[in-house]
Amino acid sequence: MEIIHVSAECYPVAKAGGLGDVVGALPKYQSDLGHVAKVVMPMYRTKFLRDNEWEVVHKGYAHLHNYWFNYTVIKEKTNKLGFDLYLVDIYGLLDREKIYGYGDDTERFTSFQIAVVDWIAAWAHLPDVIHVHDHHTALIPFMVKYCYAYQRMQGVATVLTIHNAQYQGQTGMDKTVYLPDWDLWKRGMLEWAGALNPLACGIRCAWKVTTVSPTYLEEMRHSAAGLEALLEYEKGKCSGILNGIDPVVWNPASDKYIQDHYDEDTAEEGKRRNKAELCGRYGLDPRKPLITFIGRLVADKGADLLPQAIEDSFYYIGRKMNFFILGSGLPEIEGRLQQIRDLSRGDYNTYIGYDEGLSHLLYAGADFVLMPSRVEPCGLNQLYALRYGTVPVVRNTGGLHDTVIDYGDKDGYGIRFLHASVQDMTHGIWRSVELFHQQEMLRDIRRRMMQLDFSWESSVRSYIDLYESMR
Ligand code: ADP
Repeated sequence: MEIIHVSAECYPVAKAGGLGDVVGALPKYQSDLGHVAKVVMPMYRTKFLRDNEWEVVHKGYAHLHNYWFNYTVIKEKTNKLGFDLYLVDIYGLLDREKIYGYGDDTERFTSFQIAVVDWIAAWAHLPDVIHVHDHHTALIPFMVKYCYAYQRMQGVATVLTIHNAQYQGQTGMDKTVYLPDWDLWKRGMLEWAGALNPLACGIRCAWKVTTVSPTYLEEMRHSAAGLEALLEYEKGKCSGILNGIDPVVWNPASDKYIQDHYDEDTAEEGKRRNKAELCGRYGLDPRKPLITFIGRLVADKGADLLPQAIEDSFYYIGRKMNFFILGSGLPEIEGRLQQIRDLSRGDYNTYIGYDEGLSHLLYAGADFVLMPSRVEPCGLNQLYALRYGTVPVVRNTGGLHDTVIDYGDKDGYGIRFLHASVQDMTHGIWRSVELFHQQEMLRDIRRRMMQLDFSWESSVRSYIDLYESMR
């Protein structure tokens, strides 16, 4: 079967979060099963672009209402990622360093989608499945179905994966003129709550819709940032497939970002060395448990609760632990986290920014990874933590519910708390400190965590079954 993934991110080309990791791994494991999996994404000006060799495979032109643009599709020459990787360049729109965050993101991603559909429509044979990810690519199922110029593609199955329904790409209905001539009777497909809503449009028009964990799908029936009724209506074509992790990239025995490698048998010593490296670098005390948070500093991740939970932990539990926060996001949260550095007595530090290498060192060197998420469609941090023998301390929601069992329960290994609140998180931190001092139990838990298998294997099969079901 031939599948083309269309995405705004793909690790290691460009990544802002879990979407990048998933699109960097899923096609590789689909290819391993004998399918032809391809990825197409915008040609941002990234290091990966400069460091690799490319060939031009297509040139075309299309238009965004009355703005005509040329686009170029290039392909990575060596199959470096284990699948065919294509980048789309549009001068003036996609030739930027960052992935998101520009005032003209609607124009950037709409023109990208138009170029992708225009290019695929020109293929001699069509793919079996176009698999789009999140709102940046969710208008494609509509275009394939209802744009007159692409009628040849109407039989191509489309799948939309929702990695995070909080972001829907809403914009004014006046922007519907950007799309290539389409059947005006289908205007309702584009609209949700008075706006052009690409994610809602994708949910309506894709043949199948998936979310990245079964529990997230269930939760979205009552909490989906305004899309609850739509998801209820379309539930027949929705399913939840848990993300996997790439065990080649995320392997403490060979991780290219860490120096002290380890496996299940050498985890105690390996983690100790990585922790010493981190503590030395950031002025922390290696004798105390090291609790980390890695991620976007936004309310969905519960990051706004961190400063108070850290202060409360120091106050109520005592200076018995270290904290290290790696992340970037809302300026007010970043500011607060920097401010509380003044409180540190060699037991708190933070790095505000994005640093892939540091994140790997933290999974390896920390004792606990904190995830107080309000919303967590799947969550990858906890899966990486498990693989690196680091205990996840998580709020019981979405994918965290599906992947972390409390160590107080049968066969458990993590720490779960119920509410995204400072109190519950502080209680989780207290339990972490207690567990840290029960060395034997912690060792057993580490071993159990490192033996868990969250690789892509079973999820890839679920995706293939889903594609097969549409044939
Ligand atoms: P998201 O909702 O952000 O996609 P996930 O848990 O699915 O959350 O994935 C987050 C991914 O991004 C993980 O690989 C995590 O290590 C990485 N990450 C997040 N923030 C940072 C950061 N500041 N520096 C390095 N890696 C980060």
